[in-house]
Amino acid sequence: MRLEGGRESNNVEDRRGRGPGGGFRGGMGGGRGRGGMVVGGGLGTIVLVVLALLFGVDPGMITGGGQVVQAPAPSAAPRGAPPGAQPGTPPSEDAAGRFARRVLAETEDVWNPIFQSLGRRYQEPVLVLYSGAVQSACGVAQAQVGPFYCPGDSKVYIDLDFMADLQRQVGATGDFAAAYIIAHEVGHHVQNQLGVLQRVEALKRQASQAESNSLQVRVELQADCLAGLWARRAHEARQILERGDIEEGLNAAAAVGDDRLQRQARGYVVPESFTHGSSAQRARWFRAGLESGRLEACDTFAPERL
Ligand SMILES: [Zn+2]
Repeated sequence: MRLEGGRESNNVEDRRGRGPGGGFRGGMGGGRGRGGMVVGGGLGTIVLVVLALLFGVDPGMITGGGQVVQAPAPSAAPRGAPPGAQPGTPPSEDAAGRFARRVLAETEDVWNPIFQSLGRRYQEPVLVLYSGAVQSACGVAQAQVGPFYCPGDSKVYIDLDFMADLQRQVGATGDFAAAYIIAHEVGHHVQNQLGVLQRVEALKRQASQAESNSLQVRVELQADCLAGLWARRAHEARQILERGDIEEGLNAAAAVGDDRLQRQARGYVVPESFTHGSSAQRARWFRAGLESGRLEACDTFAPERL
C-alpha cells in the first residue's frame, strides 16, 4: 500500500501498554487455537457467544479463540464515556501506530462523502489500539479475541500484536491484509450508523440459533463487501493500492473463512455454526465491493445464495 504522506486520523485512542487495570496479560489466557467454541470452551466462551448475539460484537472474537474475562455491563459503561484515554492522543511514533492512523483516515475520507451523498452525517468511529486486555462498552476483552467493533461505544478495538500474530498464523501477510481488517471493522461501524446492526439484532431475537448464525454471516459478508468498497474508493481518490494488494486482501478474506478456521481447529466443518461465512464467500463479497465501489452491491441480505 502507498500511505506515506497520507493524513493521520486523530480518532485514535492509544491505550497500548496500559491494560484495563493492569495485570491481565496472560493471566486468564485461554487456548490460542481458532474455533473458540471448541478450543476456548468453558464459561468465557459462552459469555462471548452471548455477547456476540446481544451486542453484535464481531464474532471474529470467537473464531479468535478468545475469552471475555468479564460479563458485559453496558449500563456501567455509558455511551461515549469509557474509561481510558480520549481520542486525540499524541500521534503515534511507531510505524504500526502511524499505519493504523493512516488507514483510519482513509476510511474517514471515503465514508464521509458517501454518507453525505445519502443525506446523512457520518459519525467517525474511534480506533482503540491496545495491548493485553481492554475495557469496552461490550465488556473486557483479551487481545486473543482479535479485532472487534463494539456498537455500544462505536469503537473499533485492535491489538497490534494480535495483528502480527494473525498474519503469521493464517498467512494473511502484508500491509493491505492489516488494512482490510481495519476496514472490515469500520464496515461494522457503517452498518451500525445505517441501522443494519439494529435491524439484525431485532430479527435475531425471534430466530433459532441456526437462523441467527446465518443472519450474522450476512452481517459479516456485508462488512467484507464494505471493506472492498472502501479499497476501491480510496484507490480512486489517492492511488493507495499497489501491485499484489488485491490478492493480499482476497487472501486475508479467505484466510479467515469459517470453513478454513474450523478445519484448522477441529479437522471438520459445521456450516450451520458459521458466523462469518466460508472462505469463498468472504473473498467473493470483498471482491463485489472492490469491483463495484457501490453500496448497492453490498446487499448481502437480498441474495438467496451468498
Ligand atoms: Zn466482522
